[in-house]
Amino acid sequence: MTVAPLTVTNAVLDGERIGLRCVDGTIAELGLGVEARPGDETIDANGAPLVAPLVNGHAHAAMTLFRGYGGDLPLMRWLEEKIWPVEAKLDAEDVYWGARLACAEMIRSGTTRFWDMYFHVAQTARAVDDAGLRAHAGEPMFDIDGESARMQEKVLHSLEELSGSGPNVSASLTPHSIYAVSEGLLRWTAELAAERELPVHIHLSETEQEVADCLSEHGLRPAAYLDELGLLGERTVLAHGVWLDEAELELIAERDCTVVANPVANMKLAIGGVLPYPAARKAGVRVGLGTDGAGSNDSLDLLSDLKVFALSQRHAGPTRR
Ligand SMILES: [Zn+2]
Repeated sequence: MTVAPLTVTNAVLDGERIGLRCVDGTIAELGLGVEARPGDETIDANGAPLVAPLVNGHAHAAMTLFRGYGGDLPLMRWLEEKIWPVEAKLDAEDVYWGARLACAEMIRSGTTRFWDMYFHVAQTARAVDDAGLRAHAGEPMFDIDGESARMQEKVLHSLEELSGSGPNVSASLTPHSIYAVSEGLLRWTAELAAERELPVHIHLSETEQEVADCLSEHGLRPAAYLDELGLLGERTVLAHGVWLDEAELELIAERDCTVVANPVANMKLAIGGVLPYPAARKAGVRVGLGTDGAGSNDSLDLLSDLKVFALSQRHAGPTRR
């Protein structure tokens, strides 16, 4: 598909009104006196600031279909009683249209790339391509039913499907969490990620219960447990991190992982806290921001998460600093 060059005029950068011209998806000209040429698509920014696009570090795009569903429930009851039963009924076409809607919402609020974890991942990839966005996407892994072999097959199949996607979609491995994935399947994930140099994107330390269960089952806190399984590395993205302690944050920084805060989803599901950003920063952890799915946020507007993130850190007070 050939796309006409795009020229944006009247945008503000460093206090000056400038123009920007894109050709074939690349910025070809930027600065004073950039003008549209015949045949260009044009946008008059009318004095709006020119800023870098946003990256949504943790999402479940197709969950736009569940916006508002199961409100006022805490995380585990929300998942077990509301979300997992309806997700079991989704088909590929549902996921495509849910993800298309998510892409439109993200474009509208300045996001051009997102990290996603959702069923029928090839449909999310198709929606991303059709919308002209970029994403790192993976098929969520669960084996609480004990069926790790079936899950491994499903993941390998999804990687094959994603290898046929365009350059806008990158594959990642997405074990749901340490409470929904067995130790064996997590070890398999670590080996596959190392072998194929794939990112790993997982929910971690979202609830206090998850920490308590990990300590009683494995004698380790969640980040130390993942490290023992070989899952902490520079390509690892940890979503939430609400209950990470200082030692875990230091370990995560040492392993060069990224932690993604999801403040709105944490508040909506009454998690009882948000990522302890000052401690994460002190430890040198790379921190990103995510919306989580629209089911646990009601919005995919990352800028509203940014506002809530700043407010939540102030609200937490000096004990969390
Ligand atoms: Zn999530």
